[in-house]
This record gives sequence, structure tokens and C-alpha cells, in this order.
Amino acid sequence: MSRDLLLIGIGELATNSPRAPDLVGVVHDAAVAIRDGRVAWAGPAADLPAEFRGPDPFDVQGRAVVPGFVDAHTHLVFAGDRADEFARRLRGEGYEQILAAGGGIHSTVAATRAASFDELVASGSARAIRLLRQGTTTVEIKSGYGLDPETEVRMLEAARAVGERTPIDVVPTYLGAHVVPRGTGREEYLGLAAGEMLAACAPLARYCDVFCDRGAFTVEEARRVLSAGRERGLRPRIHAEQLAHTGGALLAAELEAASADHLDHATAEDAAALRQAGVVAVLLPAASFSMRLPPAPGRMLWDAGVTVALATDCNPGTSYVESMPFVIALACLEMGLTPEEALWAATRGGALALDEADKGWVGEGAVADLAVLEAPSYRHLPYRPGGDLVWAVVKDGAVVAG
Ligand SMILES: [Zn+2]
Repeated sequence: MSRDLLLIGIGELATNSPRAPDLVGVVHDAAVAIRDGRVAWAGPAADLPAEFRGPDPFDVQGRAVVPGFVDAHTHLVFAGDRADEFARRLRGEGYEQILAAGGGIHSTVAATRAASFDELVASGSARAIRLLRQGTTTVEIKSGYGLDPETEVRMLEAARAVGERTPIDVVPTYLGAHVVPRGTGREEYLGLAAGEMLAACAPLARYCDVFCDRGAFTVEEARRVLSAGRERGLRPRIHAEQLAHTGGALLAAELEAASADHLDHATAEDAAALRQAGVVAVLLPAASFSMRLPPAPGRMLWDAGVTVALATDCNPGTSYVESMPFVIALACLEMGLTPEEALWAATRGGALALDEADKGWVGEGAVADLAVLEAPSYRHLPYRPGGDLVWAVVKDGAVVAG
């Protein structure tokens, strides 16, 4: 697989260059030269240095090119599906009601525990390929449907295998504290999630996450698990303020977490604390959309100076969404972000949320991950929700889809 490539005929290139006068650093009539999987040069085609010219360029014929999407929050490895529950919720049953009856996440836990490593890798890889075809080149994947040491380890190993067997880059996160499994005492489970199970999972993960919310874990419990994770080298990230306002965002700031995710009920005080602590707000508009709930205050968070990322939250219960272009559309139409802000958040914002500084932009030294759009401008992403807008995908300098 060649990792050298020259793209020409780019009608509109979004570079996300911090030196550009506009947020996404648009260059028209552009070219991108790639050497050994990294961008060696990007700019107006007329300025392309002779050393990067070659006999066999990839001519994208006037299409727009954007950085590959970085999906910084998913639960991509799981077994089974919850289409029945989805239909029940549309008939009026509440999620918390379904959960109390042993459905919801508990049914995914049962299916995932029953699935083999190979089954988890096969279904996870199929999903990862669908993400890739829609322009995603890096994806974060959480555990959290095992809730016992053996299955949590199997989930993280499966997530890593998805990254090895598909072109997509995978960032694994330990989410042992997703929910207290049925039949286990709360204190007993917290001891496991912050102790033996964490110890088994830490070598396989980069981050430790906790579902801190009403009906899930309290701020005190989340602090305990995240602190234990940090002692084992896992940077914290946290599900915060999704179903109710319980203080998870301020905890993220206190722990200088990589991200606080969801934030549907975040306040101006939360925003100020996240900005001050440099915590990325990972917003998941497909989750609120799929649950028919109001979206997170994305406009407020952006205007408060918080670094914003967008992600799918792809999971079998509350957001079975695999498309970052669709998330970009929701961020604009439901949360009031501009097309520029939404594109930046889905690329550079996601990369910052995952501490991947050399992704999410197109310039010398960046990882050569690109999406070529079947459109003349990135503005078509929010303008045409649900459209089939990704024409080709470049990962590490190789054309992998399209
Ligand atoms: Zn989640």
C-alpha cells in the first residue's frame, strides 16, 4: 500500500490551519502532497513545488477535501441490537423505565457477554468500515458492555483488533463504570471497577471513562474510579450532564479530564470551568436526536470559548448513528453551530479530544487522513443531511475507500 500520494484538482481544501484568517483555513484550487503517510505540502496547486510533482496524481476533479473525521466517542464494539426497545420508546415508554425493567443497556450486556471475541471483532469491524466509508479515519471505542473483568478485557481486545484489521485508527477507552450490572451490589461493583477489573483493562486502554449521571454513577463515585484510572496511567474522560445536571462537568474540570461528553444540561458555570481547565466538550447531537430530547447547548459552549468536538456516540441503544456527516448536519440544524464550526469540531476538535495533535488538519507534518467529498464545498455536509457525500477516503496516504 503506497503511502506517497499527490492529490490535485481540489476545488476547495479545508486545512484547519491555525494560521488561516478563517476557522477552517479554506484554500481553493489546491493540491496536497503526501510522503510516507504524512502531509508533506498543502496549498494552492499553482504553488506546488516541483519536487512533489509526479507522473500519476490522484485528480479529484474539483471536489472538496476535508481532514478525515475524528469520532471521539463511540461504543462501537457490542453484540445484538435494540430495535425492539427503539420501537417501544417511540410508543411512549421512557428509557429509565425500560432500564428499570432490565432492558436497555442490560440487554446489550447480556448479548455482549455471550458473544465470542471473533464475533465482536467481526461486527465491530463491519461498523468501522461503514464509518470509514463516511469519512471517519479515527474512532474512539469504549468498553462497558461487559461489566466483568473477562468481558471488559475481551471488548478492549476486540476494539484493538478492529484497529488492526481495518484501515481505521482505534483509540480504546475503559468504561467499566458504565452501569452497575444486575445482581451485583453497588459498593462491590465500584471496588471491582476501580480495582481488579481496572488493573486487567488498563494495559489495553488509553482512557478511563465513567457514566456520571442520574441513574448511573454519582460525582463521588466517578471521582473514585477516574482517580484510580489515572494512577494506572489512563487519562480521564467522562459522560456528564446528559440526562440531568449532576456535576460531572465540574468534576471533569477538577480532574483536567481529556473531555466531558454529552453536556445536554451544561450551564454557563460548567462552560467557564471546562474552558479554564482545557477540557474538550464532546457533543453528541445524534444521541439527543435519537432520544427525541433537546440538544446540548453547543452554541453557548462554543461562544464561552470551550473547545468543542462532535462525535456519533454510536451505540445500540440511544444513538445507532455511524455517520459523522449526519452529526455535522445535526450540530448545525439542532445546536446552531455554523458549518465552519461543525466541520472544525468533527475533525480538529475530535483530534484534540483524543490527544492526537497531528490529526484533524491538513498541513506539513499532519497525518495524511482525508475525506474527498462528492460536493464542491464542505458546506454541503450540513446542507444535505443524510446525503451520500463522501466520494473517497485517504488514510495514512493510501486511498482506502471510494
Ligand atoms: Zn457514550
